[in-house]
Amino acid sequence: MDEIKSVAIVGGTHGNEFSGIYLLRQWEQQPQRIQRQSFSTSTLFANPPSYEANKRYLDSDLNRQFSLADLDNIELANYEQSRAKAINAFLGPKGNAKTDLIIDLHNTTSNMGPSLILLQSDDFNKKMGAYVMQNMPEAVIVYEDQCPVEEQLFLCSITQQGVIVEIGPQPQSVLRQDVLDQMEKMTLLILDFIDAYNSNTLPALNNYSAYRYKETLSLPTNEQGERIGMVHQHVQDNDFVALKSGDPIFKLFSGEEIYWHGEYEAYPHFINEAAYYDNNLAMSMAEKFTVVL
Ligand SMILES: [Zn+2]
Repeated sequence: MDEIKSVAIVGGTHGNEFSGIYLLRQWEQQPQRIQRQSFSTSTLFANPPSYEANKRYLDSDLNRQFSLADLDNIELANYEQSRAKAINAFLGPKGNAKTDLIIDLHNTTSNMGPSLILLQSDDFNKKMGAYVMQNMPEAVIVYEDQCPVEEQLFLCSITQQGVIVEIGPQPQSVLRQDVLDQMEKMTLLILDFIDAYNSNTLPALNNYSAYRYKETLSLPTNEQGERIGMVHQHVQDNDFVALKSGDPIFKLFSGEEIYWHGEYEAYPHFINEAAYYDNNLAMSMAEKFTVVL
């Protein structure tokens, strides 16, 4: 891969995820914290009106508007659909972007700790994961590389390289110091990694354990689509703790328990994420594997 010459740090893609928004303000006051020798760093507040409204979004989820087809479709013109086109023009365009790498900052209400979501498992991303793990052992590396980057809907898929920093647990529209500190630490480590990668000064990196996205589970519903149960307390807050076949995952309001019967050892995450109730999603499932460098 070529050298990374320009990095954009994006915050406030979701208006009620406060850590990134407040970090952007701090970095605007002290830009030297995010500047590195071998590339330029810019910042972008992606969705200010949704922050003003204290909501995740005004009309639709901004972080799902970046398919090539939707970016090209001028009939998609609600606030976030229009904003996505403006951001794509500013940082992209997707497929031929003037920016080399986007770091998109998010919070989750789930107990995921400091998670780094990587969209591809090329040498660059594998090494980035290793570098972050070695300097931040509490970090969790999640690969969402189930499709090519250009098919992803995320904002950070505008650029050839893009990552999501996803830190929780933090309630919506709240600032937690531990979460903010972890977000800054992980973001600065990514910048340090890029700088070392560019200048061929990476330290020796070790193989590490990571997670690979498999599937998303929905909350139980009846034929009318009404919710009839909730996430079981056995999994609540146990993000990245292995589930075995037969473990309870949902408790129905009738009292009945629903069990996990997967064909693999599943590592649930985004468990009971508040923002996913819109779509009735309960949790994502991953498999654990070793990243070999
Ligand atoms: Zn988010």
